Formats: sequence, structure tokens, C-alpha cells
Amino acid sequence: MKEIILKGIPASSGVTEGPAFILDKQDFIIPPRAVMEKEVPIEIARFEEALIRTREEILEIQKRISTQMTKQQVKIFDAHLLVLEDQMLIDEVILRIRNEQLSAEYIFSEVLRKYIKMFSAIEDEYLRERVGDINDVGRRILKNLMDESKLHELENLTEDLIIVSHDLSPSDTASMYNKNIKAFVTDVGGRTSHTAIMAKSLGVPAVVGLKDATLQIQNQDYLIVDGRSGLIIIHPTEETKISYRNLQNQIIRFQGQFEEIKDLPAETKDGKSMVLSANIELPEEIPSILNQKADGIGLFRSEYFYMNRIDLPSEGEQFNVYRKVVEAVAPNKVTIRTLDLGGDKFISSLEIPRDMHPFLGWRAIRFCLARPDIFKVQLRAILRASVFGKIKLMYPMITGSSDFQQANNILKEVKTSLRDEGIPFDESLSVGAMIEVPSAAITADMLAKQADFFSIGTNDLIQYTLAVDRLNEQADCVYEPGHPAILRLIKQTVEAAHKENIPVSLCGEMSSDPVLALILLGLDLDELSMSSGSILQIKKLIRSVHFKDAQKLAGEVLRLSTGEEVEELSRRRLLELAPEILNEEGEK
Ligand code: PEP
Ligand code: MG
Repeated sequence: MKEIILKGIPASSGVTEGPAFILDKQDFIIPPRAVMEKEVPIEIARFEEALIRTREEILEIQKRISTQMTKQQVKIFDAHLLVLEDQMLIDEVILRIRNEQLSAEYIFSEVLRKYIKMFSAIEDEYLRERVGDINDVGRRILKNLMDESKLHELENLTEDLIIVSHDLSPSDTASMYNKNIKAFVTDVGGRTSHTAIMAKSLGVPAVVGLKDATLQIQNQDYLIVDGRSGLIIIHPTEETKISYRNLQNQIIRFQGQFEEIKDLPAETKDGKSMVLSANIELPEEIPSILNQKADGIGLFRSEYFYMNRIDLPSEGEQFNVYRKVVEAVAPNKVTIRTLDLGGDKFISSLEIPRDMHPFLGWRAIRFCLARPDIFKVQLRAILRASVFGKIKLMYPMITGSSDFQQANNILKEVKTSLRDEGIPFDESLSVGAMIEVPSAAITADMLAKQADFFSIGTNDLIQYTLAVDRLNEQADCVYEPGHPAILRLIKQTVEAAHKENIPVSLCGEMSSDPVLALILLGLDLDELSMSSGSILQIKKLIRSVHFKDAQKLAGEVLRLSTGEEVEELSRRRLLELAPEILNEEGEK
């Protein structure tokens, strides 16, 4: 088969190879399961039984509701029965089970996918409408072939696979932790999409924004994913595989050099220290942040806790998780961000209307202020956990003094009721504002008088300042972290914070890019928070340079007029000051 190269947006570094697994949300997740030759007749019999059972089910439903059925509905059930009798489909499944020696459910799901694709492409409207029937019956057959509850579960993934999907939402990625996932490949998404964030925290490569990867890649196709340059190679030749394996070894050696500084502080040659903390989404990430010696957690995205469930998490349940995280990280701090629902993070248990512009809509702190019943449960759980270690609390999407004050008023009420109930909490708990909306950065001088700390969320700050959807792959070239407007807003926020003697952190993805982190160091940030896998490289960077050189660079880039010039100058300076930070092959 011919080698095919696709180019997308590099979203998480590293290089890997392996078989593709196409994950379609509307679809079913059935990975291939090999069967022994002697099991082939059993698989075929299982398939035939599933067909019989499905037929019985359909006839049963038809009988039950026949009196209330319209002519149209009768026709639908008849069409379903016809699909069950489609000899071509049945023969193909049986033949493939024999030839490929794979489970009945896998082969059937593959044949079903092929039929759905074929019918979807047909011009004739009547035939195209049959797709729905094929899909419905197909699902019934699959349910009869395997445990229904397992149909959509990623638990089914038992082999090392590369996930290829049109898109992955935070709720999809939340269920992927600890699974055998080697890389992520998506048609859509930008470099701060949650596919990118999750891939970084899992330490696996990701390429996003490939436009039509799901059409070009078939299940089980062998792929190389190059997360450094955003390339996907389908059916790589032996020669390509060898050259990538060499590169992989080089990356391992390159990363290995950072191990020796694990226990050393993040301090520049002239004594300026920086707090390097971790961003986490799930408590499962704790072992890796402890292993990377992170200075605690700079961003705990608490909304993951609310996903993939039909009810809301209770106070006790949340308390137990926060307590576990806080105790594991103590004496270092855990910065818990309150519920940041909306934008790209939707929670299955809450029926909120989809906004026309979700990132500009009813989200994050706006939602919490409107639903104090939900907000208070989280605040109580966080406060109760605060006596078990060091918690800092921060509100997302603050636009100015007013919403910060309103959130604090609710917090005050919660504290009062806890005191009345005699429940202890940390009375000196720090409460901060995320600076991720331009209005908050512009009024940072005012907010700094109210907040105990700031955390700059550049993932959103960039999208709101440059009017560019962070998930849109087409607009990716406009999404420039080094844009002068972004640098000015960061500088202004840091100055406002320091004037009021409060610390300021930056927890967007730009903190893990050494070229940009050098500028952030020079802009006098107190803390950088990132996926744990990037911490050692950034620590090495900080230990290799003088603060005064980084300050000089920050002064220079602030006079440049484009993001491109900014990144270029910083990269050049980094290569002069600390060439060992960037891999010769351009691996960041
Ligand atoms: C940000 O906006 O920079 C941020 C850290 O939060 P999230 O990526 O979860 O929106
Ligand atoms: Mg954000």
C-alpha cells in the first residue's frame, strides 16, 4: 500500500507508531478481537443467533404497537426486517469472520460501517434515507452480540491504538485516561483544544486540524504520528519507519537529559526563582505530577468531575476527591478552579441550551452565579477539603470586579454556614481570579485590589483578544500567543498584580513552550503551570539562563509588531543562551 502523508497542526509533541482506531461519537466502539480457528463456527453461530433474536425483537415491537402505528411506521419496521434479510450483507460478514478470524461483533461493525458509508453517498433520496434503518437495525444486532452497556465504552480498548476521530470533546477525553492510547489524531481542533491538553497530560503525541483524516484513514491502518511537525504517515514504508524510530530514540535521549535536574529548584543563574506547577484534569494524574516534582497544582480543571454522568456530583463525593488530591500533593498547594462549564465543556447532567457562540455565552462563573445551588455545593466541598492541605481557589472567566465580588459574596455565605455548623475550613484560603478575558486584563489594577492572586489563562485570553476561535483549525495561523496585544496584556496584568503585592501565575498552554516561556520569565511571572510532562524542560530552561537576559528579551519583543517576529527573536535568543533546550531536529 502506498505511503500517504497528511499535514495537520502539531498539538502534543513526540513521535509514535501503531494501528489506527477510528472513534466516531455517533458510532460504536468495537475494537478487533482475534479468535482461534476452532472458534470461527462459534462466532458465525453467534452472529446468526443475533440476527434471529433481532428479528424476534422487531416482530414483537411491531405486534405490541401495531394498533397505534401509522402507515409510515409500519413501513419503517418492514424496512428493518428487510435489512435483516439482506443476504449480501450476511454473506459478507460470515465470509470475513472465516477469512480474518476476528470476532463477529467487530466484523459486523466493519461491514455495517461500510454499508452506512455506501448508502450515505447515494444520490437517490429514498435510498439515502435507508441509512437510518441500517443504522438502527445494526445497533440492535450489535446489542444482541455483546453487552449493550459495553457498546460505547473505551474500556473495550485493550490494545495499544492510535485514536482517530473527527473531534474529541472534553467528556470523551476524560474517559481516556489510563487507556492504551498511543496518540490522538483529529479532523478538527486547534493547539489549545482539549485533545491537545489531554494528549499532553497523557504524554502522548497529537495532531489536530487534519480536516479529513477520518476519511483517509481506515480502522487498523498502520500510522506514524509525528506530533512535532504535525504529520501523519499512513502505511509508512520500512525506510520511513526506520528513520522515525531513530528520531524517537533521539527524543528519548533528549528528554533523558532533564532527569538530572528533577530535584533542583527552578532558579535562574542570577537567583530568580519561578514556581513550576502542574495543570491537571483528573486525580489519576497525581502520580505523574509527583514524579515530575511539580511545585503543586496550578490549575485543577474541576469540571471533568461533572462529566460522563447523569447526575451532579454530591458535596461528599467532591470533598473526597479534593481531599485525596490535596493530601497527595501536600505540603504543596492545589489551585482548584471552580466549575468552568460551557465553551467546549458541556456536562451531560445539565440541560443548558447550546449557545450560538458557546465561548461567549452563558458559561463558567456566569453559570455559577446564576445557579448558586450548584456553585455552593462545590464551594462547600472545596472549603471542607482545605483543612487537609493547602488549597487556593480561583474563579474562571472573570470579566471584572463585579462578577468577582458576586462570587465572593456567595463564598462568604458558604463560609458562614460552615462556621454555623461547626465545620472547619482554612480561614486564610486564597481566592484568585483567572485573567482570561481582555476586560479582566485591562482592569487588572482594580481586580488586584480584590483578589489574592491572578492566574492568566492564555488559551482563552488569546481567543478573546484576537477574536479567534481556539478550536478552529482554519484560523490556527491567527492564534498567535506572541502577538503584541497578548504580551502587553500579560505585562499589564503582572504589573498590576505586583503593585498590590499579589502573585501572578500563567496556566495556558504557552507556558510549556520554551520559546515563549523565556519571554514569560522576562515578563516577571511568578509561576508557570503546565502539563506535568513539560515541567522538567522548562525548569532546565530557567536554570540555564539569567533573569536579566530574559528581561532584556521581554523588553525587545514588546517593541516588535508581529507574533511571528516575537517568536523568531525569542527562538534565536534561546539558541544563543541555552542551545540544549531545543532539540537539533526542532523538537521543542
Ligand atoms: C486557559 O483558558 O488558558 C485555561 C488554562 O483554561 P482552559 O484551557 O481550561 O480554558
Ligand atoms: Mg480558560
